[in-house]
Amino acid sequence: MTIHKTRMLIIGSGPAGLSAAIYAARAGMEPIVVQGLQPGGQLTITTDVENYPGFRDVIQGPWLMQEMQAQAEHVGTRMMWDTITSVDLKSGPPFVAKGDSGDEYHGDTLCIATGAQAKWLGVEGEQAFSGKGVSACATCDGFFYRGKKVVVIGGGNTAVEEALYLTNHSDDVTLIHRRDSLRAEKILQDRLHKSDKISVLWNKTVEEFCGEDGKGLTHLRLKDTETGEESRFDTEGAFVAIGHAPATELFAGQLPLDPSGYIEVAPGTPKTEIPGVFACGDVMDHTYRQAVTAAGTGCMAALDAERFLGTLEVARDEMAGADA
Ligand SMILES: Cc1cc2nc3c(=O)[nH]c(=O)nc-3n(C[C@H](O)[C@H](O)[C@H](O)COP(=O)(O)OP(=O)(O)OC[C@H]3O[C@@H](n4cnc5c(N)ncnc54)[C@H](O)[C@@H]3O)c2cc1C
Repeated sequence: MTIHKTRMLIIGSGPAGLSAAIYAARAGMEPIVVQGLQPGGQLTITTDVENYPGFRDVIQGPWLMQEMQAQAEHVGTRMMWDTITSVDLKSGPPFVAKGDSGDEYHGDTLCIATGAQAKWLGVEGEQAFSGKGVSACATCDGFFYRGKKVVVIGGGNTAVEEALYLTNHSDDVTLIHRRDSLRAEKILQDRLHKSDKISVLWNKTVEEFCGEDGKGLTHLRLKDTETGEESRFDTEGAFVAIGHAPATELFAGQLPLDPSGYIEVAPGTPKTEIPGVFACGDVMDHTYRQAVTAAGTGCMAALDAERFLGTLEVARDEMAGADA
């Protein structure tokens, strides 16, 4: 077992973790990034990215993340092929994290950038047509379906927000919900019902996403939850909006989580309730969930960590002085 020590330990290698690493490395904090099971994060499972600033032409998600990692390494970040299996936040700093490899990581500061994963329906065709007509992010992919007939699947706030957002690109949006009423907040429901671009299909579940190889999604196979009757619904774009699951199991009981499992931070900052422990990106943000916002909060975490280290070092110097 090896112990790796650093002034900033970063768990997660998506846009949040790598941006934190770039800032921390350039501040001389010699950060370590533990990459986890999805090196590069969620953007590695998408293709076209058209809204990350700095690129006039469409870029590919995996390429963007390779570049971000190369930049982080170039300025002095150590990348570790490991997944954190437990953390001890109560007795730090240093904060201790154990890896699946058996190694230990000790960080004077800790940056949690473990992200979130969209929840999927788990039905046939969903993954096969992911990125080819099936998406879990209207803000990311809605633009690619402008002028087309699209559907949103779900009944909570996320689904209604996605449907409303899609009316910027399409005049024909259908919300498909398995029940006969929505869970979304009333104000969102009011906006939905006022829109003449959105219709709702009640009591229907999606049984299968259907299409042709090379052509992408062409239609859905639906089932009525009351009668059991099956039907076909033609669409080229389907947005699954049944929520996200933040990767916070490791921190439950050690940090306050909100009712949906996201890490709670002081408003407008990446600071958790434990001094020296920061959270950035999708793991603390259920509102924006974009690469650029994840990168922004990663930057904030590194800047705040640097300030924290300054105060920690002053305190250590004072203690050493008192002991002398
Ligand atoms: C299909 C798709 C398309 C998208 N398209 C766009 C787009 O066009 N534009 C846009 O701005 N956004 C897009 N997004 C959203 C964007 O990808 C996210 O907002 C962003 O990736 C969040 O970054 P993050 O760093 O917070 O987390 P993530 O990207 O989720 O990264 C989390 C990281 O944490 C690591 N991790 C988790 N648990 C552990 C552990 N125990 N130990 C070590 N590491 C761990 C993972 O391996 C991963 O590296 C898209 C998302 C999806 C799913």
